[in-house]
Amino acid sequence: MTTLLIAEHDNTSVKDATARALTAARALGGDVHVLVAGKDCGAAAAEAAKLDGVAKVLHAESDALGHQLAEPVAALIVALAGPYDAIVAAATSAGKNVMPRVAALLDVMQISDVTAIVSPDTFERPIYAGNAVETVQSGDAKKVVTIRPAAFKPAEAGGNAPVETVDASAAIAGKTAFVGAELVKLARPELTSARIVISGGRAFQSAENFRKYLEPLADKLGAAIGASRAAVDAGYAPNDYQVGQTGKVVAPDLYIACGISGAIQHLAGMKDAKVIVAINKDPDAPIFQVADYGLVGDLFTILPEFEKAL
Ligand SMILES: Cc1cc2nc3c(=O)[nH]c(=O)nc-3n(C[C@H](O)[C@H](O)[C@H](O)COP(=O)(O)OP(=O)(O)OC[C@H]3O[C@@H](n4cnc5c(N)ncnc54)[C@H](O)[C@@H]3O)c2cc1C
Repeated sequence: MTTLLIAEHDNTSVKDATARALTAARALGGDVHVLVAGKDCGAAAAEAAKLDGVAKVLHAESDALGHQLAEPVAALIVALAGPYDAIVAAATSAGKNVMPRVAALLDVMQISDVTAIVSPDTFERPIYAGNAVETVQSGDAKKVVTIRPAAFKPAEAGGNAPVETVDASAAIAGKTAFVGAELVKLARPELTSARIVISGGRAFQSAENFRKYLEPLADKLGAAIGASRAAVDAGYAPNDYQVGQTGKVVAPDLYIACGISGAIQHLAGMKDAKVIVAINKDPDAPIFQVADYGLVGDLFTILPEFEKAL
């Protein structure tokens, strides 16, 4: 059994989600090779080689791979797929962009958002917004799998794998072209890999309140900030803060939900947090059913007191 893990990177360093997907890839058994495909991405390839459990890094360089568009990356993966039994990536925006294309080109089904590896051909994945766990057995000769990062611990550093340059001529630009990227520069930890997440909901009433009450607390706690969809839809928080079924799935050590009712679609994104704290003025809010600690009260009073106490 040999697995090809597709690294997610910014040409300089490898994302935490890849270290988590590596843990899952190793659970399949056999060797794991990591593909680092990009432009001037030697530093990312060297970093991938240091992850514990990597047998080899495949380093692909091409202008067409500079922005890691789905078409050239998928074409490259398919060209390299021959010797591999499984092709694995994290179920992030990047992985979800490329892997369905790979599966279609290989004419196999994709096994999406896997939360546990039962055996090399059998996987667990959540369905119905996390309310049921499906066990999927695949008879495909090649498994194309995306991994839910929050379900796996990141592989540690400590490896020293060889880096092999591979022919990237299959990575041909398709019909899509890179136009631009507007990136939010975060001083705080990234939402999906943060140890602590503090999230706000509709209760904040404005973007100004959202920032005023959550940011100082997040900075003191070293936490990432999340939001309910209601808060995002109302414009209180940017789209990439959204936690839940149609947002990001997080599993931090501590999740603090402030003024969030606990709709099932929100719980789908955070209920695997180790410790959940809920602050809500309604004692019957559903969030208290999943909370380890609940504080009933007005967040506009509680949050400043909390910050002062820190
Ligand atoms: C297909 C689909 C996908 C969805 N995906 C997502 C998703 O990914 N993520 C997500 O979050 N939602 C998602 N939703 C929306 C979800 O159903 C809820 O509407 C949303 O989560 C509600 O957000 P909220 O808890 O902030 O708002 P509300 O449900 O309005 O809750 C606000 C809470 O704040 C409390 N409150 C009010 N004022 C105060 C105060 N001063 N102090 C303390 N507490 C206060 C209230 O008691 C209430 O419990 C989805 C819905 C659908 C249909």
